[in-house]
Amino acid sequence: MSFTNYNVSEEITRALNVLKYKTPTEVQKEVIPRAMENQDLVVKSQTGTGKTAAFGIPITEMIAWEEKKPQALILTPTRELAVQVRDDITNIGRFKRIKAMAVYGKEPFAKQKEELQQKTHVVVGTPGRVMDHIERGTLELDQVKYLVIDEADEMLNMGFIEKVETILQALPENRVTMVFSATLPRDVEALCFKYMDNPHQIEV
Ligand code: AMP
Repeated sequence: MSFTNYNVSEEITRALNVLKYKTPTEVQKEVIPRAMENQDLVVKSQTGTGKTAAFGIPITEMIAWEEKKPQALILTPTRELAVQVRDDITNIGRFKRIKAMAVYGKEPFAKQKEELQQKTHVVVGTPGRVMDHIERGTLELDQVKYLVIDEADEMLNMGFIEKVETILQALPENRVTMVFSATLPRDVEALCFKYMDNPHQIEV
């Protein structure tokens, strides 16, 4: 089993070779083919299972390079995770010249605003700062086709779930949504039920 089974382009396969990802992990085997078919997914998995590439590979693959506005939004509970996911997406999308940026609190708003004005394919951010950008009109979401909520249970623990819900309401309805969580508390399940289209549940 190798990544070439998934019909991913040469640019992405080449990046996976550089990263020395030879065979897909369990979560990648479950997620990649379904995400490529635009299925909404709820994935119960721990960190360290390769979940970032599980959503990173199909998203970088499906992004249209020419489009100037963000096409994917990835929400993370912490700044550290936002930066790590941004770096992973950048590495996977390197040869396709995918531009990913991280937005989070405690970094000057103006700097992020300036970066968002340039072509950005993927925005990775914490809910508070993402909301700030939406409210101030510096993050346009009308071209977003892929939404990932990473570590959804942590979002809940940190009190971000209402912000996440507000962001969900600001997104185009015609999109693919993937929720990753180590556990599935009731409030996370309820959110999935409300904002996802017949999601397929995966547990690894
Ligand atoms: P994650 O669960 O996304 O934090 O990934 C855990 C670690 O596994 C990271 O260091 C990744 O770079 C690495 N990784 C992800 N996918 C693969 C793969 N298919 N083969 C080898 N390593 C991988």
